[in-house]
Amino acid sequence: MDVYLETMGCQMNRLDSELVVARLRAAGHEIVASSADADAVLYNTCSVRMHAEQKVFSRLGADAQRKAAGRKLIVGVLGCMAQRLGRQLRKRYPCVDIVCGPGQLARLPQMLAFAADGQPAIALDVDRNDRAAAEDENIDWIDLVRDADRTTSSAQAFVRVMRGCDRFCTYCIVPFVRGAEVSRPGDHIEQEVRRLVEAGKSEITLLGQTVNRYRHEGDGRSTRFSDLLARLSDIDGLRRLRFVTSHPTDFTDDILQAMAELPNVCEYLHCPAQSGSDAVLKRMNRGYSRGDYDDLIDRARAIVPGVSIAGDFIVGFPGETDADQQASADLLRRCGYKNAFIFKYSPRPGTPAAKRFDDDIDEQTKKRRHAELLGVQDEIGLAHHRSYVGRQVEVLVEGPSKRADKQPTPPPAGQTQLQGRTRGDHIVVFDGPETLASQYVHVDVTNATALAMMGRLKAES
Ligand code: SF4
Repeated sequence: MDVYLETMGCQMNRLDSELVVARLRAAGHEIVASSADADAVLYNTCSVRMHAEQKVFSRLGADAQRKAAGRKLIVGVLGCMAQRLGRQLRKRYPCVDIVCGPGQLARLPQMLAFAADGQPAIALDVDRNDRAAAEDENIDWIDLVRDADRTTSSAQAFVRVMRGCDRFCTYCIVPFVRGAEVSRPGDHIEQEVRRLVEAGKSEITLLGQTVNRYRHEGDGRSTRFSDLLARLSDIDGLRRLRFVTSHPTDFTDDILQAMAELPNVCEYLHCPAQSGSDAVLKRMNRGYSRGDYDDLIDRARAIVPGVSIAGDFIVGFPGETDADQQASADLLRRCGYKNAFIFKYSPRPGTPAAKRFDDDIDEQTKKRRHAELLGVQDEIGLAHHRSYVGRQVEVLVEGPSKRADKQPTPPPAGQTQLQGRTRGDHIVVFDGPETLASQYVHVDVTNATALAMMGRLKAES
């Protein structure tokens, strides 16, 4: 069967899609680049932002019309959106044949076969309150059948270390659609990383909604996240090991020590703050105070030399005052983030915040606060990136930069504008031959913007 898969959402979704592709190919299906001639179209969609779901609704409307016009087509919705809407999806869009929750993706080949027989196929994850069932489920069977040789061609790969989330931030749907927090066995993770490294990957990013809360109990021992880092860092050929996303409440010093001491663990920390105001953090149920977050950043800077830090913020959360907004701006300045992802709050159906609080900050105010924090972060990001001018950095080359064809001055013959990342996750742009993709090089930093550094290629390492 020719299958078209469209992914909308976060890194976890993109990894899920990569695993789905491997699973479907292993079952004999072809993955095609356009939905026009596909036998099946699948949408793997995040529920965290309204925008992704709206895009799928419009796709489903078009698919319904194609089917009504007599086109034979299997339509499937996968991931968080499928889990959130469940059977309602088929009531609203009878053209949908497959509804598959994020923990059920390994069942897709059978579900496609069912749908090809004209039967709807629905597989949703177990109730998150049924922890025994969640733990009994084989949480990583799709991860284990991953085909390391058929991942993307770059030197980078993501590896999931845990599923779900138990934090219940009031604005977030994840705990309801990705289920209870369950960590994968360290043996499984190590096997997967080894296979990826043998297949040529040298930078692995460990993924979890609250990755630093990883803890696996088994075989009479308890493995903490820092133990997992130590275990993986021993793998020959693994040059860089990163992890996202961390939660401020569980960032203990043993993890910071591991970052400082294990040579291939990168000095990069993505740790969302969401707000600088205690009152807002409380309404968000983030589980820490502003003081706790300040303390984490101070410990990180003290223990991990040269650590670069990224943060996330939400503006316009219900009840947020101008003073709360100033507390967030103050936190941005204090943390000196490399970059910060700043979002405007919008209520997501099914979340505690949508039920408990009025969305009482008007759109104009949200826009103003959003622009204000972006402006503050621009200054901070520029100062941060400028501090590297005159220094040499190690860069893993990702390939041509997004603006490679828009340069005012073309690069020398045989070269293009390349983009890569430092260990601290800084974007570095420089001219060089495309053959350097997936290699490590050294770059002299000559200039900087709020989001990136520019430089001159030095010598390969
Ligand atoms: S920690 Fe909070 S924001 Fe992050 S996934 Fe869990 S509930 Fe959502």
